[in-house]
Amino acid sequence: MNYRHAFHAGNHGDVLKHVVLLGLCEALGHKPAPAFALDTHAGRGTYALDDAPAARTGEAQAGYAKLAAAGPPEPLLTRYLDAVAACRADLGAGAYPGSPWLLAHALRPQDRIACCELQPEEAAALKARFRGDPRVAVHYRDGYAAMRALLPPVVDGARFGRGLVLVDPPYEAQLAEFEVALRALREGLQRWPQGCFALWYPVKQRRVLLPFLRSAGNLPARSALVAELLVRADDSPLRMNGSGMLLLNVPYRFDAVLAPAIAALAIALGEPGAPAPRLEWLKEPG
Ligand code: SAM
Repeated sequence: MNYRHAFHAGNHGDVLKHVVLLGLCEALGHKPAPAFALDTHAGRGTYALDDAPAARTGEAQAGYAKLAAAGPPEPLLTRYLDAVAACRADLGAGAYPGSPWLLAHALRPQDRIACCELQPEEAAALKARFRGDPRVAVHYRDGYAAMRALLPPVVDGARFGRGLVLVDPPYEAQLAEFEVALRALREGLQRWPQGCFALWYPVKQRRVLLPFLRSAGNLPARSALVAELLVRADDSPLRMNGSGMLLLNVPYRFDAVLAPAIAALAIALGEPGAPAPRLEWLKEPG
């Protein structure tokens, strides 16, 4: 098992990422044409919050569990909480869905999903999880290289004009990962300009992220939106104080969908004195 992610499953970063992911899936469902989703760093598909690694850190207590207890009546957050409940109904009371499970849950029969995972045990678990779902292809390979190989998406001879790419690296390489991710996004956008691209990133000290955000605004996308949720002041390099999603080519008026959800998340998960959430265009849609 990839214990690194299992330790953190259901934390505030996962909540932000998974709420945004479900919002994007919902927007894709507004038109009947099939959509394609690529999950470049997929993980094992589902996690057990009552297993030793996750239970030991208790991070989900300050993330998913805190939100579930607050139960804010906001449509996108309700969608997320309902999805976790559906995962639990399927897999047991301690289960928590990873991004591949959420994609498979939220997308439709005509849509297709490709998931990449580089860690062999995680990839094997993911393959086993989706063996019975013909929409989902699991690739044991480097997710960044897959953006080159799998975009623009063609599945069984069919081309996809719509869809999303989730890039969710582990940031084991710390700041160097931002460079790699930006390079991959640039290449992905060149290969599939119609696609929506979503990169998750951790926030420790926000000022360290300024060069990354500057470069993100210069990517060859039609639009670039940033959604950040900080659960405490972003002044300590030692812990994850929050996280963000860089969203390129988002659906029309997606900022209006996200704004109330991020505001409600900040109220439910923020510690006293946490900065306000941030929803900001780096590049406004033309
Ligand atoms: N996206 C998942 C979710 O939301 O449930 C969580 C993914 S976890 C943060 C990152 C995953 O990326 C780990 O399972 C790790 O093994 C995998 N990984 C690391 N480097 C990779 C690479 N270059 N290509 C594909 N997967 C990679």
